[in-house]
Amino acid sequence: MGILSVLGNSFGCSTSGERLLSAAREGDLEEAKALIDYNPRLARYSTFGVKNSPLHFSASHGHHEIVSVLVETGANINLRNYSGQTPLMLACLHGHWEVVQILILFKANIHKKDFLSGGTALHFAALNGHNRCIRLLLADCVPSSPQFWNTMRGRLATEDSLVDFDEVDLCKIVNRRADGGIPALHLAALNGHAESVQLLLDLGACVSVVTVNDGATIDLIGAGSTPLHYAACGGNAVCCQVLIARGASLTAKNANGWTPLMVARSWHKNWLESILRKEPEGQIAVLPSKYLALPLMSVVKIARECGWRKAKHEPSCVDPCAICLESKCTVAAQGCHHEFCTTCALYLCSTNNTSATVHGPPGSVACPLCRCAIVSFVKLPGTTNTTKDLLTASLSRSLSATHSTTRSNPATSKDKQITKPDLQYKRIKQRSSSFRSLGFQQFL
Ligand SMILES: [Zn+2]
Ligand SMILES: [Zn+2]
Repeated sequence: MGILSVLGNSFGCSTSGERLLSAAREGDLEEAKALIDYNPRLARYSTFGVKNSPLHFSASHGHHEIVSVLVETGANINLRNYSGQTPLMLACLHGHWEVVQILILFKANIHKKDFLSGGTALHFAALNGHNRCIRLLLADCVPSSPQFWNTMRGRLATEDSLVDFDEVDLCKIVNRRADGGIPALHLAALNGHAESVQLLLDLGACVSVVTVNDGATIDLIGAGSTPLHYAACGGNAVCCQVLIARGASLTAKNANGWTPLMVARSWHKNWLESILRKEPEGQIAVLPSKYLALPLMSVVKIARECGWRKAKHEPSCVDPCAICLESKCTVAAQGCHHEFCTTCALYLCSTNNTSATVHGPPGSVACPLCRCAIVSFVKLPGTTNTTKDLLTASLSRSLSATHSTTRSNPATSKDKQITKPDLQYKRIKQRSSSFRSLGFQQFL
């Protein structure tokens, strides 16, 4: 009996685990919730060998509500699959910013590198030009301060140092290199994502950094290449212009002795000839990226501390948030003092892509009510800390589930409903083994 019941339980668990993987991939929230309610430990299930967890699948497919359920139930947020990718990397690769937002609120590790290319989540986001993801990844590094832009451009002495700002740390993260010495900026430039190039430069990406020959990758452009060499190969004129405006050299030679112009010629990007042949006459105006959002750090902090979603049974509010018209106001914009709920403030900062407001510093976000420039949000007095409740709830769920599995098995009957478990899981698509070839595949 002992052996049989052990076998029965393990079969039941793996069937439920596979069902959860399937729900996570297909976005079946109800099914995922039911399975996790029955046994929260399923959140930590992973496929044999490939090691993709339900969190990998839901993050990769952009099912943010399932991601949220999984991380709240204690799924390992930084779990790697067989190629070393975390759920955060997959969400960034596919541009699922709502997933990235949740993972960042739960403090997912942004520094991890995958095993195939040595790339971080930032490389994955830059590769495909997902600016909202880039911005969210760096939410903890970009201060909600009106001086940010000037400090980054070196117009303010650093003794004037901003609270919560470590410029060196930000630059280190932005310029981190994947195999072949490739920073995120090179990938955005190669693939023609001009907005990402602009955003990364605003966030401290170095315009003169060069790739290296580390023997790990075949380099079709040549080691020692600058972002402009990569942009020249990619063929996007705006990318080249932005880089030149920010000081990229037209005469820099890579290890093959090629200038950006020579790279453009060898890849038959003839339309770049006039841009890359000689220095532009006069200064090109350097506009700040539309994707800078200074208030993001302040609201992420408040959301972590006090929660960001409407409580299930929240009584209707007398003076609700002016955007969603239902939730209680929890934050106020510094300056105009308009009040919003944390969810709407987060949404506003995560989705904003208009140029800086006329009267505000670069990176400020226009208030949806009065168009005043918002640089930071403050927590309203009386906003309570709900994070503790969240943790307690998740703990009690897992305790009650342990209890229920030792007791009997409501899910055994549930599992019996399935005649044949759906075990046909595709691997999450691997496009290539290196960013350089990824870049080329993307482009060619
Ligand atoms: Zn709201
Ligand atoms: Zn306002």
